[in-house]
Amino acid sequence: MPKPECEEALDRLFEYIDHELPEEEIHRIGEHLKECPPCEAEHKINEKIKRLVNRTGHDVAPEDLRDRILMTIRAARPDVGGN
Ligand SMILES: [Zn+2]
Repeated sequence: MPKPECEEALDRLFEYIDHELPEEEIHRIGEHLKECPPCEAEHKINEKIKRLVNRTGHDVAPEDLRDRILMTIRAARPDVGGN
């Protein structure tokens, strides 16, 4: 089972990457990523996706695209995410 901190970090990964979170949450998630390799790996994947999306000319992925990407990642990694 993922830890609650992991759930939170993974939930907010896109916002974290986009710097759409309050300073303290960015700090909290950043700290978590440093000490949690699975979440850090997820972070790297999401950054890569964001770069790909940017290359298509959209600054921010539409919500449904984000959801689809997240579902794809979670389906590929059943140890992460869930409800
Ligand atoms: Zn974690």
